Amino acid sequence: MKYIVASAWPYSDYVPHLGTVIHLLSADVYSRYLRLMGHEVVFVTGSDEHGTPIELEARKRKVNPRELTDQVHEYNLELFRKLNLSFSLYSRTESEVHKDFVKKFLMHLYNLGYIYPVEEELPYCPNDKIFLPDRYVVGTCPYCGYEDAKGDQCDRCGRLLTPKDLINPRCAICGATPEWRKTRNYYIDLSKVQDKIYDWLQRIQKITENVKKYSISWIKQGLKPRSLTRDIPWGIESPFPSSKGKTIYVWFDALLGYLSATKEYFMREGKGETYWEKYWKDESARSVYFIGKDNIPFHSILLPGLLIASESNYVLPWGISATEYLMYEDKKFSKSRKIGIWLDEAIKIMSPDYWRWVLIRMRPEGGDSNFTWKEFHRIVNNELNDDIGNFVYRVLSLIKSRFNGVIPFPEKTGDTEAEITSKIIKSTRRVISFLDEVRLKKSTDHILEIARVGNKYLNDRAPWDLVKGNMALAKGVIYTSADIIRVLAQLLYPFMPQTSERLWSQLGYKSKVEEAKWDKIVDNRIEPGTKIGKFEPLFMKLEKDFLRNITKEIEKAREEAEKERPRLIKD
Ligand SMILES: [Zn+2]
Ligand SMILES: [Zn+2]
Repeated sequence: MKYIVASAWPYSDYVPHLGTVIHLLSADVYSRYLRLMGHEVVFVTGSDEHGTPIELEARKRKVNPRELTDQVHEYNLELFRKLNLSFSLYSRTESEVHKDFVKKFLMHLYNLGYIYPVEEELPYCPNDKIFLPDRYVVGTCPYCGYEDAKGDQCDRCGRLLTPKDLINPRCAICGATPEWRKTRNYYIDLSKVQDKIYDWLQRIQKITENVKKYSISWIKQGLKPRSLTRDIPWGIESPFPSSKGKTIYVWFDALLGYLSATKEYFMREGKGETYWEKYWKDESARSVYFIGKDNIPFHSILLPGLLIASESNYVLPWGISATEYLMYEDKKFSKSRKIGIWLDEAIKIMSPDYWRWVLIRMRPEGGDSNFTWKEFHRIVNNELNDDIGNFVYRVLSLIKSRFNGVIPFPEKTGDTEAEITSKIIKSTRRVISFLDEVRLKKSTDHILEIARVGNKYLNDRAPWDLVKGNMALAKGVIYTSADIIRVLAQLLYPFMPQTSERLWSQLGYKSKVEEAKWDKIVDNRIEPGTKIGKFEPLFMKLEKDFLRNITKEIEKAREEAEKERPRLIKD
């Protein structure tokens, strides 16, 4: 089966924080899982480089926006490599293939009659010489009197606003009073395809509850025309007639990146300019999106709307997994208030595999979740060290000290072994079925269950005593335990690829763990007579005063990261 796996494109004005990393990481875990199941996977995402925030950040730093996004793109890509994200391609919205694709795609919709010009009056800052997007106009809320309400919504009373509603409107950048100026923008009206979007929403199987609920209520209100162009110089030039100086609204640009990045990937692979259609126009191909809940309407309404409207037989989303928010110690991540941890800082504190496991364990599936260092400490010490690491180390140590480092032939086994093996098979099947349902956190529960079953089995059977009087059974117990490690090594691969690879070679395998596909994971057994490899504890235990020292650790990591950041993302 062919799969397109995509995650929302990180906005490339800065280093991503842990909440942003969750979508990318989830897409990576899922892609690795699909490959182990023998599927053909294209995993694409990239830097989202356009839009007003980057334009303004670049102005503030007195550089061209492209200079800023070049630095951010390169820096973040290197961080993602360190985190072992197995992209087919991490592209960018400044890629020529992408820009060309977006222009042609939207011109096609223009020719089909979905896009048309509209004269309108918009707020313009005479000082900054820029049309202000709604959020960049601030003023007093007419409902509750809050003085810093934004032009799209009041943060205090929550009411939706337009810039015209605000009393004493000001430019959010310089504080000047905006003027109302006439301009002509292009609008896109997808209401003609809304019934088809609705039908698709009824059909789609792999979708989180939050996406379905939200999207159906949204579409029932009817789709309104949306402004498609902006009067800012930074972005993809509008391809429509007499629209010089205007650019495409950043969301339409980024959504089409899933298609253009697939095209670019296959072009880079030397497959030519049309090979990507084997994925996007093959009815049986599946596309799965990993996003945050704030991106839901773009992926569940706009994207399918664009695809349907284009009449080009593109595959509609087959799965959408939207996570809720990750909080940081009960607060919202905030760049300006420095609340949170950013990826470059994070991997200075602990190596990438720890973060991969911890973030999936805290993945906000079905509700917001809260990152705390206390929970981080518990997950690393109890789950990774006590449950998994300890079991592995005890078994490998026994093999080394009692069996010359060779996995023994199971001369004798009893009902207990049969029962344990069937429990392990059951849990393995659960790990796989939860991965299949894109419930990544839930699937890790069952990996831990396997390690706990292993630990308890070892304690109950006490092979260190059996070797003194019942060597045949001792061999059976050690063999059974070694095979549990094999299962763990294989199952850990999507979540902690480096750890899984290490464990695989500790068990004595010379192959790569990802070559052992999962179709035989419950039938295969480890070969008796295998000489185990060199081993050491799989994980590092966090010290008692970890929590007391963490603030200092963060400061240190922050300082070091700051030194390595390229010039334009230094604070
Ligand atoms: Zn208000
Ligand atoms: Zn201004």
